Amino acid sequence: MTGFAYRGGVLHAEDIPLPAIAEAVGTPCYVYSTAILQDRYRAYDKALGPLGVRICYALKANSNQAILRLFAEEGAGMDVVSDGEMRRALAAGVAPDRIVFSGVGKTREELVAALTQNLAQINVESREELALLNEVAGSLGRRAPVALRINPDVDARTHVKITTGLRENKFGIDIEHAAEVYRQAAELPNIAPQGLAVHLGSQLLDLAPYRDAYRKLADLVRALRADGLIVDNLDLGGGIGISYQAGETPPDLAAYADIVREILTPLGCHMMVEPGRSLVGDAGILLSRVIYRKHGLSRDFLIVDAAMNDLVRPAMYDAWHEILPIAEPAPDAECSAVDIVGPVCESGDTFAKERAVPPLTDGDLLAFSQAGAYSAVMASTYNSRPLVPEVLVQDSAFAIVRKRPTFEEMIALETSPPWQKD
Ligand SMILES: *Cc1c(COP(=O)(O)O)cnc(C)c1O
Repeated sequence: MTGFAYRGGVLHAEDIPLPAIAEAVGTPCYVYSTAILQDRYRAYDKALGPLGVRICYALKANSNQAILRLFAEEGAGMDVVSDGEMRRALAAGVAPDRIVFSGVGKTREELVAALTQNLAQINVESREELALLNEVAGSLGRRAPVALRINPDVDARTHVKITTGLRENKFGIDIEHAAEVYRQAAELPNIAPQGLAVHLGSQLLDLAPYRDAYRKLADLVRALRADGLIVDNLDLGGGIGISYQAGETPPDLAAYADIVREILTPLGCHMMVEPGRSLVGDAGILLSRVIYRKHGLSRDFLIVDAAMNDLVRPAMYDAWHEILPIAEPAPDAECSAVDIVGPVCESGDTFAKERAVPPLTDGDLLAFSQAGAYSAVMASTYNSRPLVPEVLVQDSAFAIVRKRPTFEEMIALETSPPWQKD
Protein backbone atom coordinates (compact mmCIF):
# COMPACT_ATOMS: atom_id res chain seq x y z
CA MET A 1 0.00 0.00 0.00
CA THR A 2 1.49 3.34 -1.05
CA GLY A 3 -0.35 6.25 0.59
CA PHE A 4 1.71 9.29 1.58
CA ALA A 5 5.49 8.85 1.62
CA TYR A 6 8.73 10.61 0.69
CA ARG A 7 10.30 9.53 -2.56
CA GLY A 8 13.41 11.17 -3.94
CA GLY A 9 13.16 13.85 -1.23
CA VAL A 10 9.56 14.86 -2.07
CA LEU A 11 6.35 13.87 -0.30
CA HIS A 12 4.14 11.90 -2.67
CA ALA A 13 0.49 10.91 -2.63
CA GLU A 14 0.79 7.43 -4.13
CA ASP A 15 2.80 8.06 -7.34
CA ILE A 16 2.10 11.80 -7.52
CA PRO A 17 4.59 14.32 -6.13
CA LEU A 18 2.51 16.79 -4.10
CA PRO A 19 4.10 19.89 -5.71
CA ALA A 20 2.46 18.76 -8.96
CA ILE A 21 -0.96 18.96 -7.30
CA ALA A 22 -0.15 22.33 -5.70
CA GLU A 23 0.83 23.57 -9.15
CA ALA A 24 -2.28 22.26 -10.90
CA VAL A 25 -4.93 22.94 -8.26
CA GLY A 26 -3.46 25.70 -6.11
CA THR A 27 -3.28 25.69 -2.33
CA PRO A 28 -4.83 25.08 0.08
CA CYS A 29 -6.40 21.82 -1.05
CA TYR A 30 -7.22 18.43 0.39
CA VAL A 31 -5.58 15.38 -1.19
CA TYR A 32 -6.92 11.87 -0.64
CA SER A 33 -5.32 8.51 -1.37
CA THR A 34 -7.47 5.79 -2.94
CA ALA A 35 -5.05 3.12 -1.72
CA ILE A 36 -5.47 4.14 1.93
CA LEU A 37 -9.25 4.37 1.63
CA GLN A 38 -9.41 0.87 0.15
CA ASP A 39 -6.95 -0.47 2.68
CA ARG A 40 -8.97 0.79 5.63
CA TYR A 41 -12.27 -0.50 4.25
CA ARG A 42 -10.79 -3.90 3.46
CA ALA A 43 -9.30 -4.16 6.95
CA TYR A 44 -12.81 -3.73 8.41
CA ASP A 45 -14.21 -6.21 5.94
CA LYS A 46 -11.52 -8.74 6.78
CA ALA A 47 -12.08 -8.43 10.54
CA LEU A 48 -15.87 -8.22 10.57
CA GLY A 49 -17.04 -9.73 7.29
CA PRO A 50 -16.64 -13.30 8.59
CA LEU A 51 -18.96 -12.39 11.50
CA GLY A 52 -21.60 -11.19 9.06
CA VAL A 53 -21.27 -7.59 10.26
CA ARG A 54 -22.20 -5.10 7.57
CA ILE A 55 -20.09 -1.94 7.23
CA CYS A 56 -22.14 1.24 6.90
CA TYR A 57 -19.79 4.16 6.37
CA ALA A 58 -20.76 7.17 8.54
CA LEU A 59 -20.44 9.68 5.78
CA LYS A 60 -20.47 12.77 7.95
CA ALA A 61 -16.70 12.15 8.31
CA ASN A 62 -16.19 12.87 4.60
CA SER A 63 -19.10 13.01 2.22
CA ASN A 64 -17.37 13.74 -1.08
CA GLN A 65 -19.16 11.87 -3.87
CA ALA A 66 -15.94 10.29 -5.13
CA ILE A 67 -15.27 8.81 -1.70
CA LEU A 68 -18.85 7.58 -1.32
CA ARG A 69 -18.64 5.91 -4.73
CA LEU A 70 -15.36 4.30 -3.83
CA PHE A 71 -16.85 2.77 -0.67
CA ALA A 72 -20.08 1.84 -2.47
CA GLU A 73 -17.98 -0.08 -5.00
CA GLU A 74 -16.32 -1.89 -2.09
CA GLY A 75 -19.80 -2.96 -0.97
CA ALA A 76 -20.38 -0.51 1.88
CA GLY A 77 -23.72 0.64 3.17
CA MET A 78 -24.00 4.15 4.63
CA ASP A 79 -25.03 5.79 7.88
CA VAL A 80 -26.57 9.22 7.28
CA VAL A 81 -27.58 11.94 9.74
CA SER A 82 -29.50 14.37 7.54
CA ASP A 83 -31.64 14.59 4.44
CA GLY A 84 -28.62 16.06 2.63
CA GLU A 85 -26.45 13.10 3.55
CA MET A 86 -29.17 10.70 2.47
CA ARG A 87 -29.28 12.41 -0.91
CA ARG A 88 -25.52 12.23 -1.20
CA ALA A 89 -25.54 8.49 -0.48
CA LEU A 90 -28.34 7.89 -3.01
CA ALA A 91 -26.57 10.07 -5.60
CA ALA A 92 -23.45 7.93 -5.15
CA GLY A 93 -25.48 4.86 -6.09
CA VAL A 94 -25.96 3.34 -2.64
CA ALA A 95 -29.16 1.28 -2.53
CA PRO A 96 -31.74 2.62 -0.02
CA ASP A 97 -31.87 -0.76 1.70
CA ARG A 98 -28.22 -0.23 2.65
CA ILE A 99 -28.76 3.18 4.22
CA VAL A 100 -29.47 3.79 7.91
CA PHE A 101 -30.70 7.17 9.15
CA SER A 102 -29.24 8.25 12.53
CA GLY A 103 -29.28 11.53 14.39
CA VAL A 104 -30.71 13.10 17.51
CA GLY A 105 -32.92 15.71 15.85
CA LYS A 106 -34.50 14.43 12.66
CA THR A 107 -37.19 16.80 11.42
CA ARG A 108 -40.62 15.77 10.17
CA GLU A 109 -39.42 16.45 6.62
CA GLU A 110 -36.42 14.19 7.14
CA LEU A 111 -38.58 11.39 8.50
CA VAL A 112 -40.89 11.72 5.49
CA ALA A 113 -37.89 11.59 3.16
CA ALA A 114 -36.39 8.55 4.90
CA LEU A 115 -39.70 6.64 4.69
CA THR A 116 -40.43 7.70 1.14
CA GLN A 117 -37.00 6.47 0.04
CA ASN A 118 -37.53 3.13 1.84
CA LEU A 119 -34.33 3.29 3.85
CA ALA A 120 -33.27 0.13 5.67
CA GLN A 121 -33.64 1.55 9.15
CA ILE A 122 -34.31 4.69 11.15
CA ASN A 123 -32.40 4.86 14.43
CA VAL A 124 -34.73 6.58 16.87
CA GLU A 125 -33.23 8.52 19.77
CA SER A 126 -36.19 9.56 21.93
CA ARG A 127 -39.84 8.84 22.80
CA GLU A 128 -40.70 12.16 21.22
CA GLU A 129 -39.13 11.12 17.92
CA LEU A 130 -40.89 7.76 18.11
CA ALA A 131 -44.27 9.49 18.46
CA LEU A 132 -43.60 11.80 15.52
CA LEU A 133 -42.32 8.94 13.36
CA ASN A 134 -45.42 6.88 14.17
CA GLU A 135 -47.62 9.77 13.07
CA VAL A 136 -45.61 10.47 9.90
CA ALA A 137 -45.48 6.79 8.93
CA GLY A 138 -49.24 6.52 9.48
CA SER A 139 -49.92 9.48 7.22
CA LEU A 140 -47.83 7.81 4.51
CA GLY A 141 -49.50 4.43 5.05
CA ARG A 142 -46.23 2.77 6.06
CA ARG A 143 -44.63 0.98 8.98
CA ALA A 144 -41.28 2.48 9.88
CA PRO A 145 -38.37 0.04 10.35
CA VAL A 146 -36.82 1.24 13.59
CA ALA A 147 -33.87 0.58 15.84
CA LEU A 148 -33.77 2.31 19.19
CA ARG A 149 -30.51 4.05 19.90
CA ILE A 150 -29.60 3.26 23.46
CA ASN A 151 -27.40 5.47 25.60
CA PRO A 152 -25.46 2.84 27.55
CA ASP A 153 -23.95 5.30 30.05
CA VAL A 154 -20.41 4.23 29.28
CA ASP A 155 -17.47 6.63 29.37
CA ALA A 156 -15.71 6.50 26.01
CA ARG A 157 -12.69 8.32 27.48
CA THR A 158 -12.30 10.59 24.51
CA HIS A 159 -12.52 14.39 23.99
CA VAL A 160 -15.58 15.90 25.76
CA LYS A 161 -16.93 17.30 22.52
CA ILE A 162 -17.03 13.86 20.88
CA THR A 163 -18.24 11.69 23.75
CA THR A 164 -21.82 10.57 23.16
CA GLY A 165 -22.50 7.53 25.32
CA LEU A 166 -22.81 9.13 28.75
CA ARG A 167 -26.11 9.80 30.50
CA GLU A 168 -25.53 13.54 30.43
CA ASN A 169 -25.03 13.53 26.63
CA LYS A 170 -27.99 14.38 24.38
CA PHE A 171 -27.80 11.09 22.49
CA GLY A 172 -29.99 8.01 22.66
CA ILE A 173 -32.52 6.59 25.08
CA ASP A 174 -31.22 5.97 28.62
CA ILE A 175 -30.57 2.31 29.08
CA GLU A 176 -32.84 2.19 32.16
CA HIS A 177 -35.80 3.24 30.01
CA ALA A 178 -34.87 1.28 26.93
CA ALA A 179 -36.97 -1.82 27.58
CA GLU A 180 -40.04 0.24 28.38
CA VAL A 181 -39.66 2.40 25.25
CA TYR A 182 -39.03 -0.67 23.08
CA ARG A 183 -42.26 -2.22 24.40
CA GLN A 184 -44.14 1.01 23.67
CA ALA A 185 -42.64 1.12 20.19
CA ALA A 186 -43.88 -2.42 19.50
CA GLU A 187 -47.41 -1.31 20.40
CA LEU A 188 -47.43 1.64 18.02
CA PRO A 189 -49.33 0.77 14.85
CA ASN A 190 -46.89 2.31 12.39
CA ILE A 191 -43.59 1.36 13.99
CA ALA A 192 -41.77 -1.91 13.38
CA PRO A 193 -39.05 -2.13 16.01
CA GLN A 194 -36.35 -4.41 14.66
CA GLY A 195 -33.41 -3.81 16.90
CA LEU A 196 -31.07 -1.65 18.92
CA ALA A 197 -28.24 0.75 18.18
CA VAL A 198 -25.39 2.24 20.19
CA HIS A 199 -22.62 4.72 19.41
CA LEU A 200 -20.25 5.70 22.18
CA GLY A 201 -18.40 8.65 20.74
CA SER A 202 -15.50 9.25 18.42
CA GLN A 203 -11.73 8.76 18.42
CA LEU A 204 -11.84 5.88 20.94
CA LEU A 205 -8.37 4.46 21.47
CA ASP A 206 -9.43 1.87 24.00
CA LEU A 207 -11.73 -1.11 23.44
CA ALA A 208 -12.91 -1.41 27.06
CA PRO A 209 -15.88 0.97 26.58
CA TYR A 210 -17.08 -1.19 23.66
CA ARG A 211 -16.90 -4.30 25.84
CA ASP A 212 -18.91 -2.60 28.59
CA ALA A 213 -21.52 -1.20 26.21
CA TYR A 214 -21.93 -4.43 24.24
CA ARG A 215 -22.44 -6.42 27.45
CA LYS A 216 -25.22 -4.02 28.44
CA LEU A 217 -26.65 -4.27 24.95
CA ALA A 218 -26.63 -8.09 25.04
CA ASP A 219 -28.37 -8.10 28.44
CA LEU A 220 -31.02 -5.79 27.05
CA VAL A 221 -31.58 -8.02 24.00
CA ARG A 222 -32.09 -11.04 26.27
CA ALA A 223 -34.49 -9.12 28.51
CA LEU A 224 -36.56 -7.91 25.55
CA ARG A 225 -36.71 -11.39 24.03
CA ALA A 226 -37.75 -12.86 27.37
CA ASP A 227 -40.67 -10.44 27.14
CA GLY A 228 -41.61 -11.86 23.75
CA LEU A 229 -40.29 -8.93 21.74
CA ILE A 230 -38.44 -9.35 18.47
CA VAL A 231 -34.87 -8.02 18.32
CA ASP A 232 -33.19 -8.97 15.05
CA ASN A 233 -30.77 -6.13 14.28
CA LEU A 234 -27.87 -4.64 16.20
CA ASP A 235 -26.11 -1.48 15.10
CA LEU A 236 -22.78 -1.39 16.93
CA GLY A 237 -21.89 2.23 16.14
CA GLY A 238 -18.58 3.68 15.02
CA GLY A 239 -15.95 5.56 16.93
CA ILE A 240 -12.74 3.58 16.46
CA GLY A 241 -9.87 6.06 16.69
CA ILE A 242 -6.79 6.69 14.55
CA SER A 243 -3.26 7.80 15.37
CA TYR A 244 -2.90 11.57 15.04
CA GLN A 245 0.39 11.71 16.91
CA ALA A 246 3.10 9.47 18.23
CA GLY A 247 1.92 7.53 21.24
CA GLU A 248 -1.68 7.17 20.07
CA THR A 249 -2.28 3.56 19.14
CA PRO A 250 -5.52 2.80 17.34
CA PRO A 251 -7.44 -0.26 18.53
CA ASP A 252 -6.78 -3.49 16.71
CA LEU A 253 -9.75 -4.46 14.54
CA ALA A 254 -9.16 -8.17 15.16
CA ALA A 255 -9.42 -7.53 18.91
CA TYR A 256 -12.59 -5.52 18.30
CA ALA A 257 -13.99 -8.40 16.25
CA ASP A 258 -13.18 -10.78 19.12
CA ILE A 259 -15.34 -8.67 21.44
CA VAL A 260 -18.21 -8.74 18.96
CA ARG A 261 -17.83 -12.49 18.45
CA GLU A 262 -17.73 -13.23 22.15
CA ILE A 263 -20.50 -10.94 23.38
CA LEU A 264 -22.88 -10.41 20.48
CA THR A 265 -22.58 -13.24 17.95
CA PRO A 266 -24.38 -15.70 20.27
CA LEU A 267 -27.50 -13.52 20.00
CA GLY A 268 -27.86 -14.40 16.32
CA CYS A 269 -28.77 -10.86 15.18
CA HIS A 270 -27.97 -9.14 11.91
CA MET A 271 -25.19 -6.73 12.82
CA MET A 272 -23.72 -3.57 11.35
CA VAL A 273 -21.04 -1.06 12.30
CA GLU A 274 -20.89 2.63 11.39
CA PRO A 275 -17.24 3.68 11.20
CA GLY A 276 -16.40 7.15 9.92
CA ARG A 277 -13.04 8.51 11.04
CA SER A 278 -11.21 5.17 10.96
CA LEU A 279 -12.11 4.67 7.27
CA VAL A 280 -11.07 8.09 5.99
CA GLY A 281 -8.96 9.94 8.58
CA ASP A 282 -5.58 8.58 7.52
CA ALA A 283 -6.42 8.89 3.83
CA GLY A 284 -6.27 12.69 3.56
CA ILE A 285 -3.87 15.57 3.94
CA LEU A 286 -4.39 19.29 3.72
CA LEU A 287 -1.78 20.74 1.40
CA SER A 288 -0.80 24.32 2.14
CA ARG A 289 1.91 26.86 1.39
CA VAL A 290 3.79 29.18 3.72
CA ILE A 291 2.91 32.78 2.90
CA TYR A 292 5.30 34.38 5.34
CA ARG A 293 7.69 33.30 8.01
CA LYS A 294 7.12 36.18 10.40
CA HIS A 295 9.82 36.83 12.93
CA GLY A 296 8.24 37.69 16.26
CA LEU A 297 9.79 38.78 19.51
CA SER A 298 9.15 35.57 21.39
CA ARG A 299 9.00 33.16 18.44
CA ASP A 300 8.53 32.84 14.70
CA PHE A 301 5.16 32.37 13.06
CA LEU A 302 4.61 30.35 9.94
CA ILE A 303 1.64 32.06 8.33
CA VAL A 304 0.21 29.53 5.90
CA ASP A 305 -2.46 29.85 3.22
CA ALA A 306 -4.78 27.33 4.92
CA ALA A 307 -6.90 28.58 7.79
CA MET A 308 -9.39 27.53 10.42
CA ASN A 309 -12.19 27.78 7.87
CA ASP A 310 -10.48 25.03 5.83
CA LEU A 311 -9.54 22.80 8.79
CA VAL A 312 -11.31 23.69 12.03
CA ARG A 313 -10.29 20.69 14.17
CA PRO A 314 -7.37 22.41 15.96
CA ALA A 315 -9.56 25.43 16.85
CA MET A 316 -12.60 23.34 17.76
CA TYR A 317 -11.13 20.30 19.51
CA ASP A 318 -7.55 21.37 20.25
CA ALA A 319 -6.76 18.65 17.75
CA TRP A 320 -3.19 17.80 16.81
CA HIS A 321 -2.25 17.35 13.16
CA GLU A 322 1.27 16.30 12.26
CA ILE A 323 2.99 18.83 9.98
CA LEU A 324 4.95 17.38 7.11
CA PRO A 325 7.23 19.54 4.97
CA ILE A 326 6.74 18.54 1.33
CA ALA A 327 10.49 18.78 0.70
CA GLU A 328 11.98 16.06 2.88
CA PRO A 329 14.14 17.65 5.57
CA ALA A 330 17.79 16.59 5.73
CA PRO A 331 18.33 14.03 8.50
CA ASP A 332 20.47 16.54 10.38
CA ALA A 333 18.12 19.51 9.80
CA GLU A 334 17.80 21.61 12.92
CA CYS A 335 14.23 21.98 14.19
CA SER A 336 12.94 25.11 15.85
CA ALA A 337 9.66 25.81 17.62
CA VAL A 338 7.20 27.95 15.67
CA ASP A 339 3.50 28.76 15.77
CA ILE A 340 1.72 27.65 12.63
CA VAL A 341 -1.21 29.94 11.94
CA GLY A 342 -3.65 30.86 9.20
CA PRO A 343 -4.53 34.32 7.84
CA VAL A 344 -8.00 34.54 9.43
CA CYS A 345 -8.65 37.39 11.87
CA GLU A 346 -8.98 35.20 14.98
CA SER A 347 -6.34 34.11 17.46
CA GLY A 348 -8.04 30.71 17.33
CA ASP A 349 -6.81 30.40 13.76
CA THR A 350 -3.80 28.47 15.03
CA PHE A 351 -2.87 25.00 13.79
CA ALA A 352 0.00 24.40 16.17
CA LYS A 353 1.75 26.25 18.95
CA GLU A 354 5.49 26.02 19.59
CA ARG A 355 5.75 23.08 17.24
CA ALA A 356 9.28 21.92 16.45
CA VAL A 357 9.63 21.95 12.68
CA PRO A 358 12.57 21.79 10.31
CA PRO A 359 13.48 24.99 8.46
CA LEU A 360 10.46 26.19 6.47
CA THR A 361 10.11 29.58 4.89
CA ASP A 362 8.11 31.74 2.46
CA GLY A 363 6.76 29.72 -0.45
CA ASP A 364 7.47 26.28 1.02
CA LEU A 365 4.77 23.62 0.85
CA LEU A 366 3.64 21.62 3.86
CA ALA A 367 0.90 19.15 4.67
CA PHE A 368 -1.33 18.63 7.69
CA SER A 369 -1.64 14.88 8.01
CA GLN A 370 -4.61 12.73 9.06
CA ALA A 371 -6.98 15.28 7.50
CA GLY A 372 -9.34 12.88 5.75
CA ALA A 373 -12.06 12.91 8.44
CA TYR A 374 -14.07 15.80 9.89
CA SER A 375 -11.93 18.19 7.90
CA ALA A 376 -13.17 19.16 4.41
CA VAL A 377 -16.75 18.49 5.57
CA MET A 378 -16.43 21.14 8.27
CA ALA A 379 -14.93 23.77 5.98
CA SER A 380 -16.64 27.13 5.62
CA THR A 381 -16.11 30.30 3.65
CA TYR A 382 -15.36 32.51 6.66
CA ASN A 383 -13.43 35.62 5.66
CA SER A 384 -14.91 34.99 2.18
CA ARG A 385 -12.26 32.41 1.53
CA PRO A 386 -13.44 30.02 -1.21
CA LEU A 387 -14.38 26.53 -0.06
CA VAL A 388 -11.21 24.44 -0.11
CA PRO A 389 -11.01 22.05 -3.09
CA GLU A 390 -10.53 18.28 -2.87
CA VAL A 391 -8.36 16.01 -4.99
CA LEU A 392 -8.40 12.22 -5.22
CA VAL A 393 -5.26 10.34 -6.20
CA GLN A 394 -5.13 6.81 -7.56
CA ASP A 395 -1.68 5.48 -8.49
CA SER A 396 -0.24 7.96 -10.99
CA ALA A 397 -3.55 9.75 -11.68
CA PHE A 398 -5.21 12.55 -9.80
CA ALA A 399 -8.51 14.35 -10.26
CA ILE A 400 -10.21 17.34 -8.72
CA VAL A 401 -13.30 15.88 -7.01
CA ARG A 402 -14.52 19.21 -5.69
CA LYS A 403 -13.37 22.36 -7.39
CA ARG A 404 -12.56 25.64 -5.77
CA PRO A 405 -15.55 27.95 -6.33
CA THR A 406 -14.92 31.25 -8.06
CA PHE A 407 -15.57 34.52 -6.29
CA GLU A 408 -18.38 35.16 -8.78
CA GLU A 409 -20.04 31.88 -7.81
CA MET A 410 -19.73 32.73 -4.14
CA ILE A 411 -21.23 36.20 -4.52
CA ALA A 412 -23.99 34.92 -6.84
CA LEU A 413 -25.46 32.90 -3.95
CA GLU A 414 -26.61 36.17 -2.42
CA THR A 415 -29.34 38.44 -3.75
CA SER A 416 -30.33 42.01 -2.99
CA PRO A 417 -33.76 42.80 -1.59
CA PRO A 418 -35.98 44.61 -4.09
CA TRP A 419 -35.80 47.91 -2.17
CA GLN A 420 -32.09 48.32 -2.75
CA LYS A 421 -30.96 50.14 -5.90
CA ASP A 422 -28.59 48.19 -8.16
C1 LIG B 1 -20.50 10.20 13.96
C2 LIG B 1 -21.19 8.91 14.08
C3 LIG B 1 -20.53 7.74 13.68
C4 LIG B 1 -19.11 7.72 13.19
O1 LIG B 1 -18.21 8.01 14.19
P1 LIG B 1 -16.62 7.88 13.93
O2 LIG B 1 -16.01 8.27 15.20
O3 LIG B 1 -16.29 8.81 12.83
O4 LIG B 1 -16.36 6.46 13.55
C5 LIG B 1 -21.25 6.56 13.76
N1 LIG B 1 -22.53 6.54 14.20
C6 LIG B 1 -23.18 7.65 14.59
C7 LIG B 1 -24.57 7.55 15.07
C8 LIG B 1 -22.52 8.87 14.54
O5 LIG B 1 -23.17 9.96 14.95
